[in-house]
Amino acid sequence: MIANTCRHAAALLSRSREESLGVFERVSLYVHLMVCPNCRTYSRQLHWIDQALAEAYRKTPVVLSIEARLRIAQALSQPGRGEPRDSE
Ligand SMILES: [Zn+2]
Repeated sequence: MIANTCRHAAALLSRSREESLGVFERVSLYVHLMVCPNCRTYSRQLHWIDQALAEAYRKTPVVLSIEARLRIAQALSQPGRGEPRDSE
């Protein structure tokens, strides 16, 4: 995916929080961020959110029951997880 639009850059920024991007994707995103102040702001905001969540978790770790973990794992294994719904 080439980050030639803000929509693509936002998708790459979101993906980069969960997995490593390929070299071409990282370079493409870097170039986009160099020229797009809006996406730089979005990137900083994602970073702040990650830091705030990490800090909150550090102060009050969330301990889920086995049942809750199983429900989450089952929901994540469903086809189409994370895909936007057309009806919304
Ligand atoms: Zn942009």
